[in-house]
Amino acid sequence: MVTSLFTELGLIDCVIFKHIGAHEFEVIYKADSWFDPLIQGVSAGHNIEIDNNFPFLLDFMQDAIPHWQAKAANVIDSGIWTETIQGHPLRLEAQAINNPPHSYLVVHRLKDKFEKKQQTLQLARELLLSNDQITARHEQLEKRMADLLNSSSAIHTLEQPIIQALEQAEIGVAVLDERLQMLKGNPALQALFSDTSVEIKQPIDRLLLELFKKQYPEYERIFATHSPWSGELCWLNPPEQGKWLKVSIYPIKDGLRHIKNWILSVSDVTQVKFLLKRNEKLSHYDVLTDLPNRQYFWQQLEDRALRGKPFFLLYLDIEKFKRVNELHGHATGDQVLIGLAKRLSSLTRMDDLIARIGGAEFAVVLGLDDLNTQHLHNEYNQCKAFIREVINACSLPFYLESGGRCEIQLNIGATSFPKDSKNIEELIKFADIAVSAAKNSPETHTAFYSQKLVEDALKRVQMENALQTAITDNEFELFFQPIINLSSGQVIKAEALIRWRKIDGALVSPTDFIPLAEQTGLIVPIGKWVINQACKQMKVLSEAGKIIKISVNLSPRQIADRQLFSFIKQSLNKHKVNPCQFEIELTEGVLIDDYDKVQHLLSELRTLGISVAIDDFGTGYSSLAYLQKLAIDHIKIDRSFVMSLTASNQGQDSDSAIVLAVIAMAKSLNVGVIAEGVETDYQKRFLQECNCPSAQGFLFSKPLPIEQFLRLPAQLP
Ligand code: C2E
Ligand code: MG
Ligand code: MG
Repeated sequence: MVTSLFTELGLIDCVIFKHIGAHEFEVIYKADSWFDPLIQGVSAGHNIEIDNNFPFLLDFMQDAIPHWQAKAANVIDSGIWTETIQGHPLRLEAQAINNPPHSYLVVHRLKDKFEKKQQTLQLARELLLSNDQITARHEQLEKRMADLLNSSSAIHTLEQPIIQALEQAEIGVAVLDERLQMLKGNPALQALFSDTSVEIKQPIDRLLLELFKKQYPEYERIFATHSPWSGELCWLNPPEQGKWLKVSIYPIKDGLRHIKNWILSVSDVTQVKFLLKRNEKLSHYDVLTDLPNRQYFWQQLEDRALRGKPFFLLYLDIEKFKRVNELHGHATGDQVLIGLAKRLSSLTRMDDLIARIGGAEFAVVLGLDDLNTQHLHNEYNQCKAFIREVINACSLPFYLESGGRCEIQLNIGATSFPKDSKNIEELIKFADIAVSAAKNSPETHTAFYSQKLVEDALKRVQMENALQTAITDNEFELFFQPIINLSSGQVIKAEALIRWRKIDGALVSPTDFIPLAEQTGLIVPIGKWVINQACKQMKVLSEAGKIIKISVNLSPRQIADRQLFSFIKQSLNKHKVNPCQFEIELTEGVLIDDYDKVQHLLSELRTLGISVAIDDFGTGYSSLAYLQKLAIDHIKIDRSFVMSLTASNQGQDSDSAIVLAVIAMAKSLNVGVIAEGVETDYQKRFLQECNCPSAQGFLFSKPLPIEQFLRLPAQLP
């Protein structure tokens, strides 16, 4: 009686078989006569054998039998297929269910569900396509405008080719100056609101920036840190329906990383949103990954906060995802996003919430085990353990349909509810601050929100601004530290080391500003200053009769600069110095990460007679094979090894053994050795006894300004 009611209501429209042996089943329920043409004689209470005589189930049985044998409580689906019975299509779906100790086979008839699913799929396809097209259009335009603006010298007036490109663009574009004032907008931008009856009282760029500020907590960070951004803005204008706008904001920087312009590009995506609205699932879920989308996530987050139970909000950002799209194409980028969503979902629990909140950004609400929440450090440990799992799982390569593979790096920022804030908007802002701090933590790729994070971020921005001024105001100095021949005491070489003298006279160590310069790209202009200054001082030294080699440190970012070689060549020519007296120092990491670029650069440098040293040797992972293949001239044993050469160790510790081994190995490869950081007589003697040819360190001299370096004797005790 009850079952027939269910059938009437369309709740059960299926045939249920209980699995009792290899191909043997008991029919425990049959809804209607639609199944009869498929297998005759099926009625409830009877046993039946499903074998090769039922080709329509055969494929699925191949998956189902091992599934039943595995005995884990789970369900697998066949997917929908169609059988044609007397000219009418019958949409079917089978399920193999394990509910230990029993196993079932269920065959469903799908009526509306099939049509609905088809419609949803079609909508999803259309949406993906139109979203992809819009994103690609924005990216193309940004690239074109960036090229044009970079090649133009004027900042406050726009040259003809830029104006032309703007006029022709199909999407709305505005070029803004560094203070976000519009220099020029195109006709498509002006036409954005032409289909509404409302009069827009302010310039469109102002309106868009205002919407951005109101709708996204990350507004301030984007402009303070000069970052690109892309997202959707909603313009509401009751009683009219309003508009959805896809907006991208892209910074254009000059060689000194000063902001020259901002490009604002806008597309009307109201139609896409309208399509989404037609289907509730699609309006709440991301079409590509099937995870909740940004809007739905916000709603859910608010619900969680109302419940008041503690949780962590995590933002996850894929590092340089744009490069994945550029290198492998959007289709591969999509595969990686889908794969990542799957891996994340497999790590979260039923009660956790996970969403795709931006192009390459995901968010997780991580619930906490009740048992442990009394202690704050337990909460953090739970969250840290989860983050570790996520980072480990996502560091494995993604295998692509094309047969290739792709690797990504995740940055994760976390904030705690209610400890950091009870306000959802503030919490989102904090998660955003934390993830951007995570991007600057190359070891862990993780950051937890704290007031100190905010202060550090502010300090970074201030330091970056101060560094930019330091370049234009010439606040750098070059110091020289002698390198001596350990058997004769002769000064054979000097390392050029940069110093930053601030206006107040304070001297900043390179360890405090080189990493930031490297991250922001300012190392390229700073590095050029060092190269030019080193050549200039080489001339002064040789005129004073000090004909020695000068070695200059190069950062990874400089190696990637295509103009590096020609700049070195020009500087040497300009100051008329002998290239054979010029040496560059690279760290081991560069050799491995940028092997091809290094190989190319070194072969160019060799044509001029410039030599190469590997700095801080022993702290990275370079192998002998690299040294040999790249024909390296010198290795500099890192100070940390030399430091542990002490009288109490008597050469018996592992660091002494490493020093000895490196010296022996270098000798056999015909590579020179310099021991860094020699501070004591004991260290000097130890190195002399094991035939280390040269050394550098405070025992001989600290790095000195050129005037003092000139006064150093040619031989040091
Ligand atoms: P590095 O290239 O390994 O330079 C050697 C560092 O060790 C220098 O620190 C030097 O002052 C210090 N040092 C030398 N002998 C001793 C010693 O006996 N005891 C101690 N405690 N320290 C000693 P500095 O000048 O502070 O430079 C630090 C790092 O900054 C350099 O390490 C290098 O990686 C980077 N750096 C310096 N100048 C430049 C530059 O022009 N360009 C780039 N890219 N990096 C630079
Ligand atoms: Mg060095
Ligand atoms: Mg070093």
